[in-house]
Amino acid sequence: MDYNKLAELLFPEIDKTPADYEALYPARDKADDAIITRLGPSPTGFIHLGNLYGAFVDERLAHQSGGTFYLRIEDTDDKRYVEGAVETIINSLKFFDINFDEGALLDADGNQTEVGSYGPYFQSNRGPVYQAFVKDLVKQGKAYPCFLTEEEIAAIREQQEANKETTGIYGKYAEKSRNLTFEEIEANIAAGKPYVVRIKSKGNKVDPAHCLECGKSCESKYGYSFENRDGVIYIKVNDAIRGELAMPANEQDVIILKANGIPTYHFAHAVDDHLMRTTHVVRGEEWLMSLPIHVELFSFLGFDLPTYCHTAVLMKVDDETGNKRKLSKRKDPELSLDYYRNEGYHPQAVKEYLLTILNSNFEEWRAENPDADIDEFKFTTDKMSSGGALFDLNKLNDVSKDVLLKIPANELADFMIGWAREFKPEVLSLLEDKEYLTKILDLGRNDNKPRKDLIYAKQIFEFIKYFYAEHFTIEEPYPEQVSEEDANEILKRYLATYDHSDDQSQWFEKIREITADLGYAVKPKDYKKHPEDYKGSVAHVSTAIRIAIVGRSQSPDVWEIQQILGEEETKRRINALIK
Ligand code: GLU
Repeated sequence: MDYNKLAELLFPEIDKTPADYEALYPARDKADDAIITRLGPSPTGFIHLGNLYGAFVDERLAHQSGGTFYLRIEDTDDKRYVEGAVETIINSLKFFDINFDEGALLDADGNQTEVGSYGPYFQSNRGPVYQAFVKDLVKQGKAYPCFLTEEEIAAIREQQEANKETTGIYGKYAEKSRNLTFEEIEANIAAGKPYVVRIKSKGNKVDPAHCLECGKSCESKYGYSFENRDGVIYIKVNDAIRGELAMPANEQDVIILKANGIPTYHFAHAVDDHLMRTTHVVRGEEWLMSLPIHVELFSFLGFDLPTYCHTAVLMKVDDETGNKRKLSKRKDPELSLDYYRNEGYHPQAVKEYLLTILNSNFEEWRAENPDADIDEFKFTTDKMSSGGALFDLNKLNDVSKDVLLKIPANELADFMIGWAREFKPEVLSLLEDKEYLTKILDLGRNDNKPRKDLIYAKQIFEFIKYFYAEHFTIEEPYPEQVSEEDANEILKRYLATYDHSDDQSQWFEKIREITADLGYAVKPKDYKKHPEDYKGSVAHVSTAIRIAIVGRSQSPDVWEIQQILGEEETKRRINALIK
């Protein structure tokens, strides 16, 4: 077979060669240890925690090393394209402070653009590039057109299943297609028969045609090695997260170009990551299985393997069964990144939490460096878990409490306002009184044992809403030790003696007086010892007052709350309950 002739028959319009593209996309002008990473999402419009998890690894590796992080849109499967998906990807990640240096990006006006000299960054615009590489493989006799119809493939599969053999097109099952003559191929094409292009896999049995003809293990020059295990060739690849991976070499004549001229993921991955000079491929463990295919493709194409980093699947403990399972789009709203924005999680809290599940030594580092900027932590792939990473919303909430405590109240106020503008516009005008909001958010945070009640914007608003007259309601009854009648009397006296300029001890002294006058114990321990002598204690009297001012039995210090509410509103609330 004249492979040159065959290549021209299949790709008459392709006049560029791999060498042309190598020249067009030269090695990046970066230090040797600079890491180049990419995110390659399909534009389906759904961006999830797994994407963020991977993007975070990409971003850290690139930016810690002075490298580049770029966005490539993997839109070869055009059925899945959703309008606006690229904007969603970029904006969702930007919210978490994950920014790309290069690729399919947005300009200052929010319009799509491409930045960088390794594009196009939409795979759908790279057709001629892929075809040039396929053409070259055909020329070298490493790839061939295959005209098998769906029915023929189904029949082969049936036979393989009956024989309990591996399914697919390989070995003797590939022979018919591999051995078509030039004339037969030409006639098929003239007849308009659709075809795909497959690689001519070397198979995984030790045989003289393979580089393992010596029958011993050896190093490939492309960044992996082979091993002969009882006549089966294994490939060995060092994964930056998982260490050495050994898997039987590929034996399938996998498709590299589909009948519509569009490459498969496998082929696009090899060509793009090579030409875009990606050094580290961070991707989900669902791709592990395909690694032998990628190894064979890279060696056929003469490319060095990138460093693979196969991340663990995100798991959670199922609320009902108590068992670990994968996060599911259907069952777990927290899988979607929108969830965190809607609920108003602070991006720093989510980042901080992600690092605790990403790197086993992060918590220790944080304990030693409580005030350090998160970006000072040296993230490494070898501290990543290769088993399922466990995601736990309660843990996120705990982390969030600590993170929010470190954010100054006025910045937190800006964050709350930004959140309300987008997700709770009906309260925006209230929160926009920033001075007032800042005082509220600062309440109880400056003590030795600061309060940790603030978790995420939606919860924070619920937590502080009693400060806003429109949202203030009495949510709990008076304590049972305080009768309606007594409550009325407590509030009457409280109002009568109320002086907004009292300091905290003067204020509390007045409560003590009311307590004693009405037959309650001034010292709670007296009431505990002799409950028969009192109606209750100062704690119950204070709670009755708290219910009137705050509407709840638990809250920060009432005196401080009153100082924020102001004299008028404080008196109005007490008055409103006096009968
Ligand atoms: N488009 C692939 C996906 O969405 C990308 C995988 C990779 O990063 O290589 O799963």
